[in-house]
Amino acid sequence: MYLKTLHLRQFRNYREQFVEFSAPKTILLGDNAQGKSNLLESVELLATLHSHRSLRDRELVLEGEQVGQIAAALQRETGCIDLAMTFRHNGRRTVSLNGETLRRQLDFLGVMNAVQFSSLDLDLVRGGPGERRSWLDTLLIQLEPVYAYILQQYNTVLRQRNALLKRQRGEAATPESQVRDAASVYLPDVASSLEASTELSIWNAQLAAIGSRVIRRRARVLQRLAPLAQTWHEAISARTETLEIRYAPNVAAQQDDSEAIQQSFLEKMQQRSIAEWHQGTTLVGPHRDEVEFTINQTPARQYGSQGQQRTLVLALKLAELKLIESVVGEPPLLLLDDVLAELDLNRQNKLLETIQDRFQTLITTTHLGSFDAQWLKSSQILTVEAGQ
Ligand code: ATP
Ligand code: MG
Repeated sequence: MYLKTLHLRQFRNYREQFVEFSAPKTILLGDNAQGKSNLLESVELLATLHSHRSLRDRELVLEGEQVGQIAAALQRETGCIDLAMTFRHNGRRTVSLNGETLRRQLDFLGVMNAVQFSSLDLDLVRGGPGERRSWLDTLLIQLEPVYAYILQQYNTVLRQRNALLKRQRGEAATPESQVRDAASVYLPDVASSLEASTELSIWNAQLAAIGSRVIRRRARVLQRLAPLAQTWHEAISARTETLEIRYAPNVAAQQDDSEAIQQSFLEKMQQRSIAEWHQGTTLVGPHRDEVEFTINQTPARQYGSQGQQRTLVLALKLAELKLIESVVGEPPLLLLDDVLAELDLNRQNKLLETIQDRFQTLITTTHLGSFDAQWLKSSQILTVEAGQ
């Protein structure tokens, strides 16, 4: 797919800017705080409806204004598509395809695909499990847009179940100190009263049903991604290191069988019901999943060197590109934010070699020193200064 044009209106520090992409590689060149990452962010939003930098739409709107907009023309093999997204201070968003406003925002997903790679991505290895879950979810949404809907349903049920657990905990006649002091006397009662709660069992069934769909999809995507990442990792590390990627679901998912996962889900909830009652929150489910990366059998998160962690992230990103390309049938866009300067020459070359002209690439930089003459010759260079 090829992004032909981008039109930013009152988006971040852009008042009004029209951009035409005239080469498969675009270098966004500029000093700090001029608007390079903002431009990449607009493309990320079109691809995923989500920005990794911001949770609130009001931050996306040019300061002092109420409404902001991103519009783009995307060439796909099936034809050209106009995409537009409007943000408002009050958080209400509208999205449209070919001028027609969509009733469900989720229908916007899957039209444009992009892989984002920024210096923040080291958090994917170093950060907490939540970083890895949201990475996996963003990838899944692009591969199967329906996943966004499943995830949304899961989070809704989870919130409602948590609210119920909290309420039940508050309503329970037994003060907590008493429960602790006389655990053996009170806990069986607590357990049976929880069992009796029909409301909770309804939520349990729903959480297990939707949760097992999340788990199955996460397991499947990692199964497909891992060999690709391993191949890249071998190539970048010159075969000196082996990468293992392991999905560590909170609810066991040995087999790709929805019913078996649901069954384990319900059993685990049963086992953890007393702990859940105490903590007033849901302790079982894919919102507690983890993805483990090991390099030469050593956990990369705790023990990986900075260089090893970078190699790992680079291998994951290259694997994402290939996976999206094979599933979607067209190469996704690649957004590189400040990454070249952080890679050594060998890794820079691997990345640039892979891109060639196969993936349309937008790349930000503060100086052109990292690019060789051939790259510069074949790239469009846009200078970004104060939102222009
Ligand atoms: P760096 O090289 O440091 O990464 P950059 O060119 O990528 O810089 P951006 O992150 O794209 O910089 O832009 C940052 C600028 O945008 C900052 O000056 C910030 O104040 C401004 N900015 C961010 N959001 C808004 C907004 N809603 N309204 C106006 N300005 C904004
Ligand atoms: Mg930036």
